[in-house]
Amino acid sequence: MGTSNSKTTAANASASKGPEVAAKLKLTTAIDTLPGMSRARANRYTKLGLRTVQDLLFLFPRDYERPAPAAKVDELREGEPASMLGAITDTEIVSRTPGKSVFGAVVENESGSIRILFFNQAFRAEQLTLGRRVIISGTPKLSGLRWEFVHPKVTILDETETLPEPRMMAIYPLTEGVKHSELRNLAETYLPLATDLPEVMPESLRSAAAERLREKGIQVFGNLPSIDESLRQLHLPDNEISMLTARTRLVFQELFVMQLALAMKRRRSTTNLHAPPLPSTAMIDARITNRLPFTLTGDQRLAIDEIRADMSRQFPMNRLLQGDVGSGKTVVAVYAMMLTVAGGHQAVLMAPTEVLARQHFKTMTEMLEGSRVRIGLLCGSLSAADRRDVFAKTASGEIDLLIGTQALLYGGIEFHQLGLCVVDEQHKFGVNQRVQLRTGGLDPHSLVMSATPIPRSIAMTMFGDVELSTIREKPPGRGKINTYLSHDGWKDRWWAFVRERLGEGRQAFVVAPRVSAVVSDDDESETEDVSSVETVYEDLCNGPLADYRVGLLHGKMSNDEKQAIMQAFAAGRTQVLVSTTVIEVGINIPNATVMTIMGGQQFGLAQLHQLRGRVARGSHAGHVCVFTDGERSPDENERLKVFEQTDDGFELAEADFRLRGPGDLLGRKQSGMPPMRIADLNRDVEVLVVARAMAQEIIDEDPELESEDFAALREQMMRRYGKRMNLGDAA
Ligand code: ADP
Ligand code: MG
Repeated sequence: MGTSNSKTTAANASASKGPEVAAKLKLTTAIDTLPGMSRARANRYTKLGLRTVQDLLFLFPRDYERPAPAAKVDELREGEPASMLGAITDTEIVSRTPGKSVFGAVVENESGSIRILFFNQAFRAEQLTLGRRVIISGTPKLSGLRWEFVHPKVTILDETETLPEPRMMAIYPLTEGVKHSELRNLAETYLPLATDLPEVMPESLRSAAAERLREKGIQVFGNLPSIDESLRQLHLPDNEISMLTARTRLVFQELFVMQLALAMKRRRSTTNLHAPPLPSTAMIDARITNRLPFTLTGDQRLAIDEIRADMSRQFPMNRLLQGDVGSGKTVVAVYAMMLTVAGGHQAVLMAPTEVLARQHFKTMTEMLEGSRVRIGLLCGSLSAADRRDVFAKTASGEIDLLIGTQALLYGGIEFHQLGLCVVDEQHKFGVNQRVQLRTGGLDPHSLVMSATPIPRSIAMTMFGDVELSTIREKPPGRGKINTYLSHDGWKDRWWAFVRERLGEGRQAFVVAPRVSAVVSDDDESETEDVSSVETVYEDLCNGPLADYRVGLLHGKMSNDEKQAIMQAFAAGRTQVLVSTTVIEVGINIPNATVMTIMGGQQFGLAQLHQLRGRVARGSHAGHVCVFTDGERSPDENERLKVFEQTDDGFELAEADFRLRGPGDLLGRKQSGMPPMRIADLNRDVEVLVVARAMAQEIIDEDPELESEDFAALREQMMRRYGKRMNLGDAA
């Protein structure tokens, strides 16, 4: 088969080749068996993960080259890309010297003439002969009085051909060693096979979706195109709008298939899983609320009411409670746990660190003093005997509330009758950490809490099978948090400020990113590492905080040591706590109002915000100062600026998502969700909203997607999500 250089002849060839191609080749044909495909080329495709013709068609362009409009000579501007149609009216071989050959030609049209030049492309002399009609594209340069294009792109036109519409040209993602033009040609050649693809979105569905998308203000031109037309418009777009509409169809499809799976999963969990109903009467509600040491905020009350409704049903609650640091999530969990105990069942709470588990144990013990509720604690540092005791009492039902760390997950602890499972600071565990516990009965209700607010699109995807409660309001009487990004020469003033606060009886945190200084291999001397917690501790004790009681805390200490140090700080015996991020999660010390963060550029935005959440938990204003070491990259700078400017966790989460994408934020890998192939959760959130609503409506009507119209859709959904979401295997 004739390979061709110019686009026009390639198009002609593929038009006549089309039916023939379709007869011999299939979507599943391996790329290395395609006509004209050498071993070496095929290998390059394999490296890109492309094995079959279908893979090629589903390699979505990442962008398009948009041709510069054809220009008239007097419209040319130095350095601005332009295209021009004209005929060759003069040619000149300026030099023939091999390795130094120069060929020039003049291209002329009604508006004037320009000169084109090629170095070491001797073949141009044969290609660009007198009278040839060409389109040249490139960047013009004024040379004397004449415009010159050096090495422009040249398209040769037939004698009779009129100027073709300038075409957008696909640019593909990472194509190591494979030319974009080659991919475009292959797509063009094999696109006729796309008609063999099953259409998973019936016409009626596509037109309904198009309507709904337009209502949301998304640009959709006409109906959403069929799958083969969509692929054609992506690889060889007619124009911008048809390309965008095709893209929207594929984005919608990708999100819609996911949302169907999620809707089916949500629905099945209400029919196939059984939990103990734990209704709350007005009396139980009053009894629990009276035990709480303060009046609930409006948002806390709302979350509690949502939880009460969920827990009164006979299928498991599956709820995520999100609220900024310090918004008061613990008390909501305490409510749910007390409701469980009132209903004669056990509740368990899992925290990511022992320090936090112990803090919860203490808070709850205090709140429930004088009641009949029995509380247990299970964490890694228990003695074997204590551990056995907790196991036995949990199994017999003598413990009502069990609080612990991941230690809960190991050793096969067995419950008498577990009714509720709470996971605190769930973002620390990874997204889908569903706690698997031997419950002694039905499936327990589940409440997970997160202080990293979840951007809207993530809530609808990775958490798409979960109900969401949100606490936005802070408890009343909270001091304001002031955040400062330090500048050179501030250190002395800052430490003086810290000393003043300590003098008023407040306490302070100092946070450093690493435990110990980096020790170089060759000698004993430590490299200067200003942001190790040990160095910071030494420097402060020998410098600005020499007259104060300073404690040191980091993850490499034993649990007993950590415990003792936390207690000393909580009781006010130490005034300053120098620590790594072990204090990041959940620690509640209202008297600590000042925080210094060293090496701030090494922390992520969410982490900085968590850290900041440790101060201003009481009525005094909080102060956070971030120091950085070395030069800040533009990224780091932007992150720190955002951090300085807002202390709204929701705003920060959206900003973080914008700056870093969803992968980093919540660990997509852990979520078990497949990567999106074309949808962009940042950009396509409105499409997602429509896809979600429509998926829910369809599942409400046809819970198992049994209608003949949806057979192909169901198959695709099962193939992609069946295993991942436990919906069953693909047929
Ligand atoms: P987080 O949401 O970060 O887990 P906590 O539950 O630790 O927050 O609560 C932070 C602080 O706010 C605690 O000291 C808690 O006692 C207090 N608090 C929570 N709710 C209220 C409220 N409604 N009124 C007053 N203080 C509250
Ligand atoms: Mg908390």
